[in-house]
Amino acid sequence: MMVVPLKTPPKDAETVNHKLLVQGGFVRQLMAGVYTYLPFGLRVLKKIENIVREEMDAIGGEEVLMPMLHPAEIWKTSGGWDSVDVLFKLKSRTGKDYALGQSQEEVVTPLTKEFVQSYRDLPRAVYHIQWKFRDELRAKSGILRGREFLMKDMYSFHTNQEDFEKFYEEAKQAYLKIFRRLGLTAKTTEASGGSFSEKVSYEFEVLTDAGEANILYCDSCDYCVNIDDINTFREGDTCPGCGKDTLKPSLAAEVGNIFDLGQKYVRAFDLSYIDADGQKKYPIMGCYGIGVTRTMGVIVEKYNDEKGIMWPDNIAPFKVHLIDLRQPEKSSEIYKGLLEAKIEVLLDDRDISPGEKFADADLIGCPFRVVISEKSLAQGGVEIKRRSERESKIVSQEELLNLIGE
Ligand code: ATP
Ligand code: MG
Repeated sequence: MMVVPLKTPPKDAETVNHKLLVQGGFVRQLMAGVYTYLPFGLRVLKKIENIVREEMDAIGGEEVLMPMLHPAEIWKTSGGWDSVDVLFKLKSRTGKDYALGQSQEEVVTPLTKEFVQSYRDLPRAVYHIQWKFRDELRAKSGILRGREFLMKDMYSFHTNQEDFEKFYEEAKQAYLKIFRRLGLTAKTTEASGGSFSEKVSYEFEVLTDAGEANILYCDSCDYCVNIDDINTFREGDTCPGCGKDTLKPSLAAEVGNIFDLGQKYVRAFDLSYIDADGQKKYPIMGCYGIGVTRTMGVIVEKYNDEKGIMWPDNIAPFKVHLIDLRQPEKSSEIYKGLLEAKIEVLLDDRDISPGEKFADADLIGCPFRVVISEKSLAQGGVEIKRRSERESKIVSQEELLNLIGE
């Protein structure tokens, strides 16, 4: 065990994700809204990142890594230097101005310009998974609202509105798939309220009291509406999405959103192309964000009990939490066997009481707890228990691999 969980949660923690992630040894707060990801936390973050990456690749996204440190000029070109209130600005010792990326339209648009000359070079979708900096007035709710946070942001460029809308729908479906794979049910708001004159945009909201969005949602479909933005609907109204149910109120966390950016940035940076008819034209641009660190926090808000976190199998830091109760040789043999079978396993061979080890295993929340003790060996094997279940059982070493390998 590289990081030992804390006996008690941090005093200033108001939300479950803050409390459990710090106590369990996943993150440490450097200051409000800024966290270190410790080995367990980093493992989880990378797994979430990879699920997001797979689904972005599946719809044709090209992954790049754009810088966090930006020259002031690009933000002046777009107008964001003066209008974006959360933009962190800094000066070099020679007096030059810079900004820390709070989003990347100002980088990706001039970048894409280098690769787009003709209509044949479009459509194109570029994304990266990179830290963002925002001068949020109130960083709060653990890793849900940070001043430094990890975001997946994708930007797409199209020759016409129809092609954009087709891709936009694919991205929406990819998002719903990502959240499903992460064990979350995301409701989608149509921020434009379904009015055709406005540009389309969707927010992806997960119901949780730790969230900041006030929504009305439907139990029978994925429809929801953000009532901070739109006041057309009331609690109890029939769901405009499916017509089958009534709208109910809830707090929610926005885990992602997608926007139609129109031609704002392509015009500002003169990203144009020559169309089939020989004319110079501007593409249509869309942007697609997912708050990767916020999503990790939301998963903790959803998957926990009074003892700790209960990670979904596919994003748990380890599949197995192996507890050695003074049987070092057998434990080491089983540990090596699991590693050979490519099963991610955490070995707790500390010289502390069984009760403390069990409490830490519940807190950290790996899907399987396996205990090797004199008693289990006398009964013919090891004791295995799923984090979500109460009862444990004794299985042989062979059975263990079969059970866990599934
Ligand atoms: P919010 O309304 O929560 O401030 P936003 O509209 O500013 O979000 P975007 O700029 O579109 O969000 O960013 C894309 C995604 O990044 C959001 O959907 C959210 O999941 C995440 N995100 C935004 N701000 C933060 C933050 N301060 N900390 C953590 N994640 C964030
Ligand atoms: Mg914001």
